[in-house]
Amino acid sequence: MVPSPATPYTGRFAPSPTGPLHFGSLATAVASYLDARHHEGRWLVRMEDIDPPREMSGAADRILQQLEAHGLYWDDAVLYQSQRSEAYQEVLQQLLEQDIVYPCHCSRQQLKERGGLHLHRCTHDGDTDGPHALRLGVTEQSEIGFEDIFQGKQQQHIKQTVGDFVLLRKDGLFAYQLAVVVDDAFQQISHIIRGSDLLNSTARQIYLQQVLGFSQLLYGHLPVAVDLQGHKLSKQNLAKAVDEHSPTLNLWTALQWLKLTPPEELRHTTPEQLLAWGVNHWQREAIPHLMLQPAPIF
Ligand SMILES: [Zn+2]
Repeated sequence: MVPSPATPYTGRFAPSPTGPLHFGSLATAVASYLDARHHEGRWLVRMEDIDPPREMSGAADRILQQLEAHGLYWDDAVLYQSQRSEAYQEVLQQLLEQDIVYPCHCSRQQLKERGGLHLHRCTHDGDTDGPHALRLGVTEQSEIGFEDIFQGKQQQHIKQTVGDFVLLRKDGLFAYQLAVVVDDAFQQISHIIRGSDLLNSTARQIYLQQVLGFSQLLYGHLPVAVDLQGHKLSKQNLAKAVDEHSPTLNLWTALQWLKLTPPEELRHTTPEQLLAWGVNHWQREAIPHLMLQPAPIF
């Protein structure tokens, strides 16, 4: 798991198995792969399967088959978040001992009455009876700024805009923000290329990295692929799964969506050859400063 000193870049693609890859998630995987390989980096795959009620049976295996069919081969074994509970629990325990997280019994209604912002510890914050969430007590000094690889300067004051956020959900499931930060550190990730739908989570993840003493990563947020009506292509709105039987065409379309123009003679080549062209010609500067970008097919 230790990257060689010659290749300090480690990227990753981290899908949730809520359905097979659609055009938008394939394009994200391609961008993350090309950015890593262009910088002679390693590229890992992590299955973010920590929310069973949202998952679709068989989707994790299908996603891996789709990646392989498109020549998107990863380094190391796939890391499954469903097998990482002990690591998440350990971090929560450490934060509880430091008194940085606290139990929260607040109902949805109570949170709504406060405009969704949880700014202070609950009145009975020592109470661990009954179902409760664990929240991170965010300090007033929580203004986080970072330079996004594609979107430029970003800034968010976490206490004022998000408040104390949940690390363990009331239903007992680990929160995405906790799992992602613990695993990025565990896998020694250095660069994260992902969709702009996660841009709003990034400051929280950097804040959590600081609290835990982890190193800060570099982030690049791509536009999110939308349909002609401007709706995000997502597994939830049943966006069409990419067809494993036409990988070169899918990759071709994804490269164009990423503002690359492969030569005509590669239109009917193998996925591996087309990707190799993409690795050589990858250009971060070409990615538009957009949150949303229409998808060519879906
Ligand atoms: Zn509360």
